[in-house]
Amino acid sequence: MVPIRLHNTLTRKKEDFIPIKEGHVGLYTCGPTVYWFAHIGNLRTYIFEDLLKRMFLYNNYQVKHVMNITDVGHLTSDADEGEDKMLLGAKREGKTVWDIAKFYEQAFFNDTKKLNILDPDITCRATEHIKEMVHLIEKLEKNKITYSVDGNIYYDISKFKAYGKLANINLEDLKAGARIEVDKNKHNPHDFVLWFTKSKFQDQEMKWPSPWGVGYPGWHIECSAMSMKYLGENFDIHCGGIDHISVHHTNEIAQSEGATGHKWVNYWLHGEFLVMDKGKMSKSSGEILTVETLEKHGYNAMDYRYLCLNTHYKTPLTFSYDSLDAAKTAFQSLKSKVLELKNSSGHLKIEHKIDMDKYRREFLEAINDDLNIPKALGLLWTLPKDKELNNKEKYDLILEFDKVFGLELTHVKEEKIEVPYEILELVKEREHARKTKDWKKSDELRDLIAGKGYAVDDAAQGSKVRKL
Ligand code: AMP
Ligand code: ZN
Repeated sequence: MVPIRLHNTLTRKKEDFIPIKEGHVGLYTCGPTVYWFAHIGNLRTYIFEDLLKRMFLYNNYQVKHVMNITDVGHLTSDADEGEDKMLLGAKREGKTVWDIAKFYEQAFFNDTKKLNILDPDITCRATEHIKEMVHLIEKLEKNKITYSVDGNIYYDISKFKAYGKLANINLEDLKAGARIEVDKNKHNPHDFVLWFTKSKFQDQEMKWPSPWGVGYPGWHIECSAMSMKYLGENFDIHCGGIDHISVHHTNEIAQSEGATGHKWVNYWLHGEFLVMDKGKMSKSSGEILTVETLEKHGYNAMDYRYLCLNTHYKTPLTFSYDSLDAAKTAFQSLKSKVLELKNSSGHLKIEHKIDMDKYRREFLEAINDDLNIPKALGLLWTLPKDKELNNKEKYDLILEFDKVFGLELTHVKEEKIEVPYEILELVKEREHARKTKDWKKSDELRDLIAGKGYAVDDAAQGSKVRKL
């Protein structure tokens, strides 16, 4: 058994993972706000969460993964400021907020499918859980943690002693560093809205009756309400991007623990950002790269997945087309290697179980060490060169490890490529050189072909040409 160790944002330490129920993991990941396409930065976070889930599955855990869809209540600032994101989308496209939500939720799942991200076991929309949110706010009200001003219900952070523990901030620091707040009704600038009945968005279409009047929920309450509904009042892991630590997740903890009076989530994991050369990529700044943008530039979504696997989730990743090019080329040559192993392994048998187990252990030691995927990925490159294992053993191991990488290596197949006439002539010439055992000429021709961007693989049935 190789223990699973995870860096917990809450304790700022790498800790042994101890599940609440043996062999099971309750996992909640914050889902998309469906007012626009997910950008490749968002998708980096979903890829990280997918790898985490696959790591647990590889370790034979049963994972219950819950993800929300934010289709109401999220303002462009995470702290009750800015514009309503859904209304922004509706205005931009001249559609209703409901149409916007439906369209971009579908677009999100099209992207995750292309990236081979496993679907959550439960996907829950905020708009379908208003009852649960109202119920939770009522509990907070009963615990005297809320106040009401001018029709809106606020969370009073001074009533929750541990406020800010996730981000390591205390109330005194918050007061000292407070910005001029637009909402004069707040007792403390960092109090936040649980339920709006009055807001600057009077044209808000999504409204529901509640004990406080017709209105709609604040953003943070949905994650507390839905995660506890599906995973219980105390569950194992909660994830998101690092931007959520200081406000969204901090407020989620305040709501959930303020309502139940006990610990809510045991392990918090946060993925670092994908950054552009110019800095942060954000949907609200208007400049975003999507899967579709990459496709238009001739890349596959899976090239992007491969790129993400090369950087540990706790390290920022700077995106450039040069690095995506390098990832695409490396991924292509990995697939060719895997194909070669596949084609030459049919008649072979497993003979070196102990050597295979050595690799399995090395693989587990990497992935269980706070998800060290880049290190584990290195094995895919060293394995084919191993002197002890036969090609079937190598191929089997690669497919087994790919359950975690999710690179769809089981599906690698011969790609039909258009080989230019000039190259085919050189290949013919080289075959002749080989037949006449003119190895010098054969090598020279191989180099010449490589210089033109093609490789020749020698197989028993004749030479095969592929793009480099
Ligand atoms: P949103 O749809 O804005 O709620 O974001 C969805 C997820 O993407 C959240 O987990 C965010 O923390 C994460 N996220 C946002 N921007 C980035 C970025 N540039 N790089 C990585 N993750 C991000
Ligand atoms: Zn959330």
